[in-house]
Amino acid sequence: MTDYNQFLSKTVIDLPPSGIRRFFDVASKMENVISLGVGEPDFVTPWNIRDETIASIEDGYTSYTANPGLLELRQEISNYLNNRFKIEYNPENQIIVTIGASQALDLAFRALLNPGEEVLIIEPAFVSYPALVKLAGGKPVQVGTSAENGFKVTPEQIEAAITDRTKAILICSPNNPTGTFLNKADLEKIAHVAMKHNLVVITDEIYAELTYDEEYTSMASIPGMYERTITINGFSKAFAMTGWRLGYVAAPVPIVQAMLKIHQYTTMCAPHMLQHGAIEALRNGKEQVSEMKRSYRRRRNFIVTSLNDIGLDCHTPGGAFYVFPSIKNTGLTSEEFAEELLKKERVAVVPGNAFGKSGEGYIRCSYATSMEQLQEAIVRMERFLQSLNINKEQ
Ligand code: PMP
Repeated sequence: MTDYNQFLSKTVIDLPPSGIRRFFDVASKMENVISLGVGEPDFVTPWNIRDETIASIEDGYTSYTANPGLLELRQEISNYLNNRFKIEYNPENQIIVTIGASQALDLAFRALLNPGEEVLIIEPAFVSYPALVKLAGGKPVQVGTSAENGFKVTPEQIEAAITDRTKAILICSPNNPTGTFLNKADLEKIAHVAMKHNLVVITDEIYAELTYDEEYTSMASIPGMYERTITINGFSKAFAMTGWRLGYVAAPVPIVQAMLKIHQYTTMCAPHMLQHGAIEALRNGKEQVSEMKRSYRRRRNFIVTSLNDIGLDCHTPGGAFYVFPSIKNTGLTSEEFAEELLKKERVAVVPGNAFGKSGEGYIRCSYATSMEQLQEAIVRMERFLQSLNINKEQ
């Protein structure tokens, strides 16, 4: 037998598989499963966006585009960021259209990090972050948060994690998996620490449109932060375009130009025809985004109330489409809870520890599924919790 490890990179061998995927491979082989596991909208991309893309193919737009993407799309992105968040980026040299926010994150880490340099990751966090930092040769440093503080990071927690190798702080608001929303005052506190220690802030704003209670503030609009902020966003969540793999990054010129060097060698450009769809999304998608947002908000309110009613303590998240209830009162670990719930009641959720150590004791439930499915999931979860209590009494 050939030992393929001799051929593979040690960094890749050592990367753990995603805690989400591993779990869903099991769920996908079972029948009658209600999945609260997937991190994507349950809507299909609006028709006008699909139509524009079909027309683009029919019109023969099948070539490469400029490396950073169609200028027309970058102009729309620039307008959007300016109108929506009051941040100004020059479409000529400050924006790159990427293959999802995922590629934008990858480019950011690779452009910033020298070997061994550290990135602070506020946890619980999206599973890709630590892996991407490692692949870029850096070192992810976990900064844990707690439910008592609504999973918001404090300046003290950040400062305690800073060393002379710290290069950047990565934030995500609204957050995956907790749904936690950082308002202007929260961002100002993080900004203060970043400026004091001369750090870059990478801000993953992929869920910015899915914000339910407060006005969204973008990190780059905080005074003093524009020069040190990398703004990442995309089409996946707001426009229900996950499969299109379209995102973008905006940042100061030297940072974007460094990222562009990597992008032009590794990727060349995002798919041409899809960029036409993205232009349509930004020009005419506002009403559809609002409609989807209203629907998520209704479902959020339902699931938070229901989870608390059946005995799982759950804070009300300000955005995204996740809730992160505590399962500590069951005495099970988050993996045990998720496995048992799947086995006994066929409801798939993600164990909180997939998102970092501070996620232990919680589960992530996505409410981007139909109201009927959510209602049925709650019935099943309540029955599951009752069965645990019966077991305990025996
Ligand atoms: N950031 C976060 C926080 C996410 O949850 C996701 C998708 N689950 C991404 C980035 C990746 O988004 P995209 O589809 O644009 O690559």
